[in-house]
Amino acid sequence: MKIHEFQAREILRKHGVPVPPFEVVSDPGAAGRAAAAFGGLVVVKAQVHAGGRGKAGGVKLAKDAAEAEAKAAAILGMTIKGLVVKRVIVARAVDIDREYYAGIVVDRASKRPVVMVSAAGGVDIEEVARTTPGRIVKRPVDPQGGLDAKAAAALAASIEERPAQAGAVADILVKLYRAFAESDCSLAEINPIVVTPSGEVWAVDAKMNIDDNALDRHPDLEALRDTDGETREEAAARGAGLSYVKLDGNVGCLVNGAGLAMATMDLIKYYGGEPANFLDIGGSSSPEKVVTALDIITSDRGVRAVLINIFGGITRCDDVAAGLVRAFEARPPTVPVVVRLTGTNEERAREILAQHDLASVTSMDEAVQKAVELAGRAS
Ligand code: GDP
Ligand code: MN
Repeated sequence: MKIHEFQAREILRKHGVPVPPFEVVSDPGAAGRAAAAFGGLVVVKAQVHAGGRGKAGGVKLAKDAAEAEAKAAAILGMTIKGLVVKRVIVARAVDIDREYYAGIVVDRASKRPVVMVSAAGGVDIEEVARTTPGRIVKRPVDPQGGLDAKAAAALAASIEERPAQAGAVADILVKLYRAFAESDCSLAEINPIVVTPSGEVWAVDAKMNIDDNALDRHPDLEALRDTDGETREEAAARGAGLSYVKLDGNVGCLVNGAGLAMATMDLIKYYGGEPANFLDIGGSSSPEKVVTALDIITSDRGVRAVLINIFGGITRCDDVAAGLVRAFEARPPTVPVVVRLTGTNEERAREILAQHDLASVTSMDEAVQKAVELAGRAS
């Protein structure tokens, strides 16, 4: 889950990271008043779940209240990467001498959090990563011990030779790591860390993504969710407790269990098809979940056939069958549907489906082949 810059700034500030004071506003007048209260140069910044706001014109400096109001009026309502800007922050601006990059991600290869720093921070960091990756220094961290002062100092020294500033950067890294770990982030980033001409060090941007699987233990972070960038399908899936990821293929999948869902997608590929989505309805699925799941899958216009693959364990096949019947009665499917059910109460499920003229198969290979063939024929 993404959170906004102003939310991430607040978390970092609580961890002691030096963040320039700021206010969140949603109209130009309030931006002007905030700027007047800060006095001097401010920066007006779009708050949307998208990177590259600077390049998109969503970050602007303003020298006084009137200019802040005008800049806010220009930024509010603009669209950045498909997202309409509804809020901006007005922050006290800092003078920039240098811009550094600092970020932490969970790295698959090392199976650890990796802290990255670069002396080439700012709006071109993606370009740096692509063309001169050597300018980004990386260090895996043992999650048991966290980022200690020594490791942070070594990272800071690789980008800043002056002891005072390097010390300040190291201190930010340690605090950023704590924030990353405590909030169960999958990513935490400050780009840029700014060093001013007088040698002060400030975090002027903040980005944090929270691991969805950890949100259960962070109700305070869950409360920060902004559903603005979410599609209707994603919102419906989340509301119903379904794991759903949209993909680009034409075979819609409704499966119980993440492992079986992955295996189903593999088999679709094996037989020459392309899955339209990953969807796990989870264990002990109620008919309601099945109704919602089918609604989500069939509202994807790319879907040419739906494959339902249920291995009944805790999930009862008859529950799923009842859900399918209800869903089809409410909205008859416009694409062919292939049902494979096996396991708990499968006989009962087959009876329910047969009463409604729905056929089902028990072999996964057979079901997948059929769905791929039907989707191909319809395309
Ligand atoms: P992003 O483009 O979405 O990453 O937004 P940032 O918050 O990183 O802002 C983009 C760029 O705007 C930064 O790299 C800075 O160069 C500039 N910027 C942001 N805040 C300030 C500030 O307080 N003072 C000055 N002079 N420039 C700033
Ligand atoms: Mn940035």
